[in-house]
Amino acid sequence: MYCPDCGTSNDNALPQCQKCGKPLPVLSQIPSPSDDSVVSTIIPYKNPYALIAYYLGVFSLIPCLGILLGITAFILGIKGLSYAREHPEAKGRVHALVGVWVGGIFGFGYLILTILLMLFSAGMFGMSRR
Ligand SMILES: [Zn+2]
Repeated sequence: MYCPDCGTSNDNALPQCQKCGKPLPVLSQIPSPSDDSVVSTIIPYKNPYALIAYYLGVFSLIPCLGILLGITAFILGIKGLSYAREHPEAKGRVHALVGVWVGGIFGFGYLILTILLMLFSAGMFGMSRR
């Protein structure tokens, strides 16, 4: 390729011009994933709902506390999903989905478990009184 600065023909593999040392255009313009999109894929800071849903979902693994955290993660995850749909550049779809699924399963799972335990202990209590 030809250097745009001095016109020297350079090997395509060279990152810069042999003669003047200027970076060669095509190679310097290789669509490197912009740092911003990489970061916002790993940490969707532009989609706070998804980010919070993700972490609440992770923390919803904690019993008892998980009921509150999980259901909050579930709701925020749904918000994060619709936010990601409206703002594709904000990313966070995966994080929101993790929040919805993990938060939903553990939040509602612990909730159902607690209700069952309460019903069970209430039943035991009722039977012991009989
Ligand atoms: Zn040059």
